[in-house]
Amino acid sequence: MSTKIIEADLSSVPVTTEDPPPPYKIETSSPDNPGFCEYAFRERQANSVPGGGMIGRQYFSPCKSCSFLCGNEIPASYKRNWPEWVDPSVNFRWESHVASTEPMLGGLHGELLGCWICWEYDQNWVKPMVPQDWYEHMRHHFKVDGYRICKGKKGAMQRRRNCGARHCPKIHS
Ligand SMILES: [Zn+2]
Ligand SMILES: [Zn+2]
Ligand SMILES: [Zn+2]
Repeated sequence: MSTKIIEADLSSVPVTTEDPPPPYKIETSSPDNPGFCEYAFRERQANSVPGGGMIGRQYFSPCKSCSFLCGNEIPASYKRNWPEWVDPSVNFRWESHVASTEPMLGGLHGELLGCWICWEYDQNWVKPMVPQDWYEHMRHHFKVDGYRICKGKKGAMQRRRNCGARHCPKIHS
């Protein structure tokens, strides 16, 4: 009887920033690219090794493989009713792009984005999304699922190669 009461109490506790984020499972996943642009896939791997990854301004020029141009505007709906909203960073957005053969398919910039979180944590390839839908998807990951970004000294999402923690379970670019 008493255990039932404890279970009921636990289930009603909301997710807080003190709760550990979901465990990271990339070490057990396959190195195959599920559908990201080849350069985006490569960039995500490069950002995990010392000295790897592009320099900041390269994220704002067209992808040399698919001509993708990364936007930097965050939809207002992403931040709605969420004062402590987190910025997934332009680097992470760039790494998430999917090559689109139809320029207008992804909207203004032809931008289509896949989800690294679903892929790295659950080995689940979600259908690529236009930015508006991608941010809605990210909002759910950060606000509801309990994922957290790993922040650097300046408070922004940092690259995995700059994270000192081994097997850090947070989200990096
Ligand atoms: Zn590309
Ligand atoms: Zn996802
Ligand atoms: Zn980290």
